[in-house]
Amino acid sequence: DPRLKAITEAIRVVPHFPKQGIMFQDITTLLLDHKVFKDTIDIFVDRYKDMGISIVAGVEARGFFFGPSIALAIGSKFVPLRKPRKLPGRNITGAWYLGEVISEKYVLEYGSDCLEMHVGAVKPGDKAIVIDDLVATGGTLSAAISLLERGGAEVVECACVIGLSHFKDDCSVNGKPLYFLVEPR
Ligand code: IMP
Repeated sequence: DPRLKAITEAIRVVPHFPKQGIMFQDITTLLLDHKVFKDTIDIFVDRYKDMGISIVAGVEARGFFFGPSIALAIGSKFVPLRKPRKLPGRNITGAWYLGEVISEKYVLEYGSDCLEMHVGAVKPGDKAIVIDDLVATGGTLSAAISLLERGGAEVVECACVIGLSHFKDDCSVNGKPLYFLVEPR
């Protein structure tokens, strides 16, 4: 696909961000190029439009840049998977309303993080895809898959703009197919 070269070239690499030694793949430059941004969305839309997808779930934060456009174009709902304590579900004393959100912790290279989803955002019978900007270890996507499955949805595929090359041989995360457009620059 000739569009993929331009997509790769529109991604900016920021050395040593957010810390020493990391070559950060910055997709904000892709968002500034109308044609490349549209091509990126179009590729996902063409792939998912006829698959009966009812839910596009976006991972905070950069999954939010791509997910809603895809959801609108394929006629599905958009469900945000958010970092802890962002989704309303607390009362004024700070206690959780029981059952308001479900959480899934996951391990990072240093430490751990968590994604949350509103209870009732997905229902049994929903067919979902998960979207994020980049997959590295797959830990984030695994947490997203768990949340959606706990809500009763079937996860059809995970989709990212950028995938690390070690996924080339086994393009799956926790047994779910993984689709990505380009490798890191
Ligand atoms: P994983 O959980 O190890 O697969 O890491 C993927 C998560 O880290 C995604 O939510 C990405 O947005 C984020 N991430 C890691 N490295 C980069 C990067 O270089 N650019 C943008 N996001 C990144």
